[in-house]
Amino acid sequence: MTRAVYLDHNATTPVHPRALEAMLPYFQAEFGNPSSSTHAWGLRARKAVEDARKSVALLLGAKPQEILFTSGATESNNLALKGCARACASTQPGRHIITTEIEHDSVTQALRSLDREGFELTLIRPDPTGCVRAEDVAGALRHDTILVSVGAVNGELGTIQPFALVAELCAKQKVVFHTDATQAVGKIPLDLSRMPIDLLSLSSHKLYGPKGVGALFVRDGFRLEPLFHGGGQERGLRSGTLNVTGIVGLGAAAQIRKEEMEDEAKRLGALRDALWAGIRRICPDATQNGDDAHRIPGTLNVAFPRLPSERLLESLPGFALSAGSACHSGMHAPSPVLAAIGLDEDLASCCIRFGLGRSTTSEDVESLLAALERVVRRVRGSSAAKASAAMRYD
Ligand code: PMP
Repeated sequence: MTRAVYLDHNATTPVHPRALEAMLPYFQAEFGNPSSSTHAWGLRARKAVEDARKSVALLLGAKPQEILFTSGATESNNLALKGCARACASTQPGRHIITTEIEHDSVTQALRSLDREGFELTLIRPDPTGCVRAEDVAGALRHDTILVSVGAVNGELGTIQPFALVAELCAKQKVVFHTDATQAVGKIPLDLSRMPIDLLSLSSHKLYGPKGVGALFVRDGFRLEPLFHGGGQERGLRSGTLNVTGIVGLGAAAQIRKEEMEDEAKRLGALRDALWAGIRRICPDATQNGDDAHRIPGTLNVAFPRLPSERLLESLPGFALSAGSACHSGMHAPSPVLAAIGLDEDLASCCIRFGLGRSTTSEDVESLLAALERVVRRVRGSSAAKASAAMRYD
């Protein structure tokens, strides 16, 4: 039996064996609560959390005290956006917020809820290559704009957004800048000591750490309203007993990413190029969604005209792939990201996202291409046969 091949690393990644090893003691022997400062269990747990904070900070070029641990990027985005908007509202009259049409739901829905609270939202459309233009964000800035949120990398297309440029122009206008960097952290280098980003969200399970843990970078001195009230953990910004095991896993994963990211980027870039070359050979009318030059190495999003993605996925049972973002698959609505870059509904329903990761090998790519070739021949062959049969009866 051939082994199943996982090619959906944008949806989630397996925990790195070294991250798992680092976590194991914290499930049992090291069960202390990091808020307990009166005994060794608590102090050891506190030390483990602070070490993880340093590792995450190091990966981002941030200071350890600028990292808050959360339950994942959904919470980080909600805390950043609602926390910032509500804090601004208590000190200044502005209510205008700018974001893009291709953000993750945890950004879009958090901002829509602020819109219902009385804030006003402007959505910027990306260009057809899946990149938002910094000039368009500049053009949307108003005297009452308080916050701009532009994701660093789009999860469906893999396109890298001009977030550093947007951060610069926001800094000039004294507007807060947040970026959802969930699909960027550990894949492209980030140095927050050189980028005027105020708030940045990340999630552990996208970088070979465990699920249910994430972080929010909050620039030193930046004021946020907490979402949760309670024991005052994480500088009062995120009450709740810390998920020590998860945080240790995230810290280890961040450290490993720092070591492995550069070499892996080269390897994945080459595999993706080989995959794309093979797809073009099998299916010359296939097109890539998203800019080729500004893209993270492991992601390829392809439109296969007249090959509905549902049918393709069914015909490739040995491969874990996605027809869009995981949050949209299962729903039959067209992907808002593909619609935003101008794909019509028909073509948007014929797109597959290939998400390569650290376990992907050239054999995986070859076996995928071989399977794809069989499917394309069969499906295209049968539709060609049907078309010629239809012509005969016409
Ligand atoms: N933002 C982006 C860009 C994502 O891809 C995801 C996960 N699909 C999230 C936010 C949400 O992250 P989490 O699963 O940690 O809540």
